[in-house]
Amino acid sequence: MLRLPSFLLLEPRTIDEAVQMRAAAGDDCSFVAGGTDLYPNMKRRQQTPSTVISLARVAELKEITGSPEEGMTIGACVTLTAVAAHPVLATHYRAVSHAAHTVSTPLLRNMGTMGGNLLLDTRCNYYDQTYEWRKSIDFCMKRDGEICWVAPSSPRCWAVQSSDGVPVAVALGSEVTLASARGVRRIPAAALYRNDGIEYLTKTADELLVAYHLPATNGWRATYQKLRRREAFDFPVLGVAARVDLAGDGTVRTARIVLGAVASYPMDIPEAAAALVGARLDPTSIGAAADAAYRPAKPMDNTDFTLGWRKEMVRVYVQRALEELARE
Ligand SMILES: Cc1cc2nc3c(=O)[nH]c(=O)nc-3n(C[C@H](O)[C@H](O)[C@H](O)COP(=O)(O)OP(=O)(O)OC[C@H]3O[C@@H](n4cnc5c(N)ncnc54)[C@H](O)[C@@H]3O)c2cc1C
Ligand code: SF4
Repeated sequence: MLRLPSFLLLEPRTIDEAVQMRAAAGDDCSFVAGGTDLYPNMKRRQQTPSTVISLARVAELKEITGSPEEGMTIGACVTLTAVAAHPVLATHYRAVSHAAHTVSTPLLRNMGTMGGNLLLDTRCNYYDQTYEWRKSIDFCMKRDGEICWVAPSSPRCWAVQSSDGVPVAVALGSEVTLASARGVRRIPAAALYRNDGIEYLTKTADELLVAYHLPATNGWRATYQKLRRREAFDFPVLGVAARVDLAGDGTVRTARIVLGAVASYPMDIPEAAAALVGARLDPTSIGAAADAAYRPAKPMDNTDFTLGWRKEMVRVYVQRALEELARE
């Protein structure tokens, strides 16, 4: 049985208290929300903070506010179950609620939060293993080692962005609010991510994710398609989030196609969007967008299935996503 290392658990009641505690605790500290990512990582000794600040009692982080007309805000500690079940989100932000619903199992969705999902650690077959397993291969550069076992001559880590919520957040043009003892800032969700398996976030370690802001629903439509081995359980090995705005004559005014699980960051494919703009969502434009998304997608050999097949599936899943939007 894998056991948690010992740590000091702090339980703030407000956002202000949480960020002050984080500032006082220093760098050897992590926030935890549902703990469905952090605690398994701690059991595998991938992360070993001596202080953990639980956000479970911060009521301000558990609200869903706003309206489709003005945009909605999901507090960082709203559970994935609550996001998936929220009637307004399910009707007006179907991609967000569907992505939340596809995460793992009901038990994990009851604990796991929207904020934790947006900040999920990157994943890799050589990293998501016990301490003893990782030690037996002499570790890797993401934790305790020097080398990347996926690309041994590479100076960087290629661990994979594997959250279902992230590609949707970027495709919608959402924003997030971050808070620390130094102040509060609001940034585009797309600006939160970096193409690096270790430093995969741009936010500083002391910044608390407060809220996830969805744009007003002024005519766009969006969807999320997920590829995984077991429908009832697994992380995505490919996620496709697509959003289009249609003009009155049915042509595409703007579009955004974002791939998850093919890189260390959510991969925005402007070439795929460009293939749609000015055209109707028909087999020709959809085929061109699917081809355009296929070309730059370069999955690495560090998750489930063969990388060649996963790359092939990019074309198929982008096509499925756009066909779904065309049918609406
Ligand atoms: C078996 C299994 C299957 C899974 N399948 C999927 C899947 O299919 N798709 C998927 O997307 N995820 C999956 N997950 C991952 C995880 O359950 C979800 O992503 C979940 O939403 C994480 O939320 P959490 O609140 O539990 O995060 P936590 O574990 O609490 O936190 C995750 C990370 O974010 C940080 N953090 C959390 N909240 C904040 C905050 N408000 N401010 C700053 N930092 C914060 C933590 O320090 C930690 O680094 C799976 C996990 C397991 C164990
Ligand atoms: S991609 Fe390489 S460095 Fe990164 S976790 Fe995997 S083996 Fe380690």
